[in-house]
Amino acid sequence: MERAQQMPAADTGPVEEVERFDAIIIGAGVTGLYALYRLREHGLSVRAFEEGSGVGGTWYWNRYPGARFDSESYTYGYSFSEELLQEWDWSEHYAGQPETERYLNYVADKFDLRRDIQFHARVVSAVYDERAHRWQVHLADGSRARAQFLITAVGLLSAHYIPDFEGLDSFQGAWCHTGRWPAEGMDLAGKRVGVIGTGATGVQLITEIAKEVGHLTVFQRTANYCAPLRNGPIDPDTQRQIKASYPDIFKRCNETAGSFIHKFDPRSALEVSLDERLEQYERLWAEPGFKKWLANFYDIMLPGPANEDYAAFVRQKIRERVKDPVVAEKLVPKDHMFGSKRLPCESGYYEVYNQDNVLLVDVREAPIERITPTGVKTRDAEYDLAVIIFATGYDAVTGALNRIEIRGEGGQTLKDKFAKGPRTYMGIQSVGFPNLFTINAASVGNFVRAAEPLVDWVCDCICYVRDHQFTRIAPTSEAEAAWTQHVAEAGAKILRTQADSWFVGANIPGKARFLLTSPDTAPVMRAKRAEVAAKGYAGFLLQ
Ligand SMILES: Cc1cc2nc3c(=O)[nH]c(=O)nc-3n(C[C@H](O)[C@H](O)[C@H](O)COP(=O)(O)OP(=O)(O)OC[C@H]3O[C@@H](n4cnc5c(N)ncnc54)[C@H](O)[C@@H]3O)c2cc1C
Repeated sequence: MERAQQMPAADTGPVEEVERFDAIIIGAGVTGLYALYRLREHGLSVRAFEEGSGVGGTWYWNRYPGARFDSESYTYGYSFSEELLQEWDWSEHYAGQPETERYLNYVADKFDLRRDIQFHARVVSAVYDERAHRWQVHLADGSRARAQFLITAVGLLSAHYIPDFEGLDSFQGAWCHTGRWPAEGMDLAGKRVGVIGTGATGVQLITEIAKEVGHLTVFQRTANYCAPLRNGPIDPDTQRQIKASYPDIFKRCNETAGSFIHKFDPRSALEVSLDERLEQYERLWAEPGFKKWLANFYDIMLPGPANEDYAAFVRQKIRERVKDPVVAEKLVPKDHMFGSKRLPCESGYYEVYNQDNVLLVDVREAPIERITPTGVKTRDAEYDLAVIIFATGYDAVTGALNRIEIRGEGGQTLKDKFAKGPRTYMGIQSVGFPNLFTINAASVGNFVRAAEPLVDWVCDCICYVRDHQFTRIAPTSEAEAAWTQHVAEAGAKILRTQADSWFVGANIPGKARFLLTSPDTAPVMRAKRAEVAAKGYAGFLLQ
């Protein structure tokens, strides 16, 4: 295999230098860090390029007040090192962003990962050299690097998105997107602050900053079903129990559809008596995290009467917490099914709207027309603001890929190829882009549980190519077509595709509506990949 080295670029003469590696990874979030660890362990020379100045990805960029897990902390951490599991103490059941960022820095240091990561290194393009079977990567600073294998660990929610509001340039106050929160923080104390967006991030942020701002205006397009997080510290006894039962924790996670620790009740909500049903709803509602969702009757996650029954229960919970019935009705979701979007978890969100200094503006009723020098103008009114915060989410999955000019065989771009939705084989590879592994959408569930086995699979696949002295691997057209059809057909039946959410690209104007992730459960995906590998990478062409 190639050793990392500086070589003159053959096509540009001896002056410019191109560093050469076996594999290049784009991104140093949880996926990129683990891929780096694994590939290095297999003896490959690897370089990871990361736009940020530190490791962590999501947990590096999202420094907004209130940012925290909805996964149980100890189910989210890496499982690959027993030593790491025993050394690291999670302080809360649902850790906040600073702790998760600290954890990923600890991992990077413990496994000496930084020496192979280049920070402040934004990849702007990646071009496949068909003669050499190598990817050439170009960075924003003009430097270049080459490798046989390219892994895009660029994140599923990393391409932050701000709607194209007219007049933003003219705004005289401060503004930022939650996914680009400045490391030094923002001074919000006593100020007139506007937040645009009430998804999972907006819900966390609003709850936190409502404690310090002078006045808060929340611009809501879609009301969401939100549920109490009920976070708390992990006491020493629980800490010991967690550390003693990691194998069991991971086993349980690996058995569930979304890799969370919660298992659905196999009973239908409608087969038990009304009393029993309500007792279970209430009991689980009082529990922390996603239990009230993912440990409930299985059919609340299927479109139909059980889902609607539970949605009615949750709507009532919202109404009970908001004093003004007009405001409460605005906060009650009526345009999508419960569970068709990831459930935002909150710690006092609805009570914020009982504060005198908080105003909820429904931008479905009166859309935002423009940003003015002094605030936001909707169809009906103007709002004076010193700070605007965009909690407007991400151009999910394909967004981060599209921001890189990825050119494969024949000069075709991945962006053009994915214009009507991703066309891949198992989300991993795409015809015409050999040796490129697009693993930025490992999971929409409990992420790391699904990312680790996916990275393992990709690393094994790369070793297979290496050990059998192949130069390239890419899917067959038939395998890609069948997978793409499967995503469309199976995807149409699941709850996740029923709402206008980022899962199907509906939050980005002009983006083709297509399920951006696998419609299969995590265990099914693992089994499918294992079968493909066992058959000598069936569905892939190795040359
Ligand atoms: C606010 C928030 C809360 C979340 N909470 C949870 C949770 O509780 N549980 C859960 O399971 N998941 C959660 N997620 C999902 C989360 O994104 C994943 O858990 C996980 O962090 C993704 O890791 P990743 O390494 O694949 O991608 P990311 O963490 O997004 O990292 C991708 C990295 O790639 C870099 N990059 C992208 N493009 C380029 C380029 N062109 N050049 C160089 N570098 C580039 C980015 O800078 C980034 O650092 C949350 C997401 C968000 C946004």
